[in-house]
Amino acid sequence: MIAGLASLTAMVAGIGIYLWQGSGTSADTAAPTPSAKPVATAHAVKPDLDLEPGVSRRSLKLTSSAQIAQTLSQAGVEESLASQVAAKIAAGIAPGEEMDLEFGLKVAGSDKPAELVFAQGTVADGSGMRILTGKSGLAIAAIKPSLKRRVTSVRGELDTESFYTSAVSAGVVDSLISDFVNAFSFDFNLAHEVKPGDVFEVAYAEQVNSRGERVGKPELLYVSLTTAEKSKDLYRFKPAGAKEYGWYDANGTSTVRAFMRTPIDGARITSNFGMRFHPVLKYNRLHGGTDFAAPVGTPIYAAADATVMSASPSRCAGNMAILTHDNGYQTRYFHLSRYATGLHPGQKVHQGETIGYVGNTGTCTTGPHLHYEVHISGKKIDPLSVDTGEAKTLSPALVKSFYGVRDSIDEARASADQ
Ligand SMILES: [Zn+2]
Repeated sequence: MIAGLASLTAMVAGIGIYLWQGSGTSADTAAPTPSAKPVATAHAVKPDLDLEPGVSRRSLKLTSSAQIAQTLSQAGVEESLASQVAAKIAAGIAPGEEMDLEFGLKVAGSDKPAELVFAQGTVADGSGMRILTGKSGLAIAAIKPSLKRRVTSVRGELDTESFYTSAVSAGVVDSLISDFVNAFSFDFNLAHEVKPGDVFEVAYAEQVNSRGERVGKPELLYVSLTTAEKSKDLYRFKPAGAKEYGWYDANGTSTVRAFMRTPIDGARITSNFGMRFHPVLKYNRLHGGTDFAAPVGTPIYAAADATVMSASPSRCAGNMAILTHDNGYQTRYFHLSRYATGLHPGQKVHQGETIGYVGNTGTCTTGPHLHYEVHISGKKIDPLSVDTGEAKTLSPALVKSFYGVRDSIDEARASADQ
C-alpha cells in the first residue's frame, strides 16, 4: 500500500540481476508419485507401469477432458470402453482444464479393436486418475499431486529503466512486484527514496510440478532494499492468531505503523502539500493535502483504523470520505469515483481496508486523482510528514516462532543462492 509503484517502475531497473535456483530442484528428475490404491481390481497398480512387450504407450496433451473418449476411440479403442474410461478419468479432473492423457495399447490386428491396457489423465499439479483394464473390469486409482517447493532468490541493482520489466525478465513473477512494493510501504517512500545503484533482493517460494512448471501463485518470503541512506531486510511472517501475513525485520519488529502516509497503491504524487497556484480556482492558496494520480477505480485505503464520519459528495471535493481516528487525527479522501460498497457514517474500518476508488468527481479536479488530507486537532498538516507511530514488536512467545521462520527463510535463500 504505497504510492510510488508507477514512479518506481519509471526510475529503477535491474542492472545485473542474477537468478539462482536451489540445487536438487530440477523437476525433470522428479517422477510423479502415484498413489497405488486400486478400488476394484484383481491386480495391483504398478507405480512404474512396466508394460508388457507389444504394448505401445502414447502421451498427448488435451485442452479438456471432453476430448478423452474421442482420442481413445481414434486410437482404436472400442467406443463404449473409450467412453467408460473417459468418464472415470474426467471424474477426477475439472471440466475444461488442460490435461495430459497417457495410455497403453495392444494392437491385435487391423480388423480388431485395440486392447487398452491402461489410461491416465493428469493435470498441471500432477494429480489425476489412472485406469487399468482387466478381466474383472476397470481398476481406478487416484494419482496424488506431485509438487515440490522451490525457493528462488533474485538480486538486482536498480537502474534508470523499469524495475518491473527487469525484475520480470530476471525471473521475478510479476504478481510479486506489488507485494514487494507493499512490503516496504512503511519503510521507504519508493517515489522519492530509491535511486539507480540501489540494491534489491527478493526471495520467493513456489510449487512446481514434475515438469518444473509453476502451479498456483508464488509467495514472497523475503525482501531487501539498500539505498545510500538505509537498508531494510524484511521477512514475511504470520503470527499465531493473526489473520494475515505481515512483514518483520530480523528482530521481529513489525513494519506496520499506526498510520499510513500513502493510502493508495501504485500512485504518483502530482502535487504536494503547500502554497500553490490553484489550476482550477486560479489563485494562490494552500494546497491542504497530497495529490496522488492514479487510474479511475484504483482502491483507496483507510490510512489507519477509523470510524467513518461521512461519505457523501460535496461541490469541490466531489465524492468525499472523512474518517476519524483514535488519536485526534482525521483523514479526508476527495474526488472518489465511488465508495466501497455499503460505506456509511459510523462504520468501523481497519487500516488498509478499501473505502473507495479513485475518480475525478467534484469541481476542483482536472484529472483522475486522490486528494488526501490529514487533519490533526482540526489543523491541516502535510500527509507525508505525519508521524506514523511506533512499530509493534512481537511478544516473546511469537518472536521465538518468528526466529524459526526467519532462519528457515535464510536457509532457503542460502541454498537458492548457489
Ligand atoms: Zn489536491
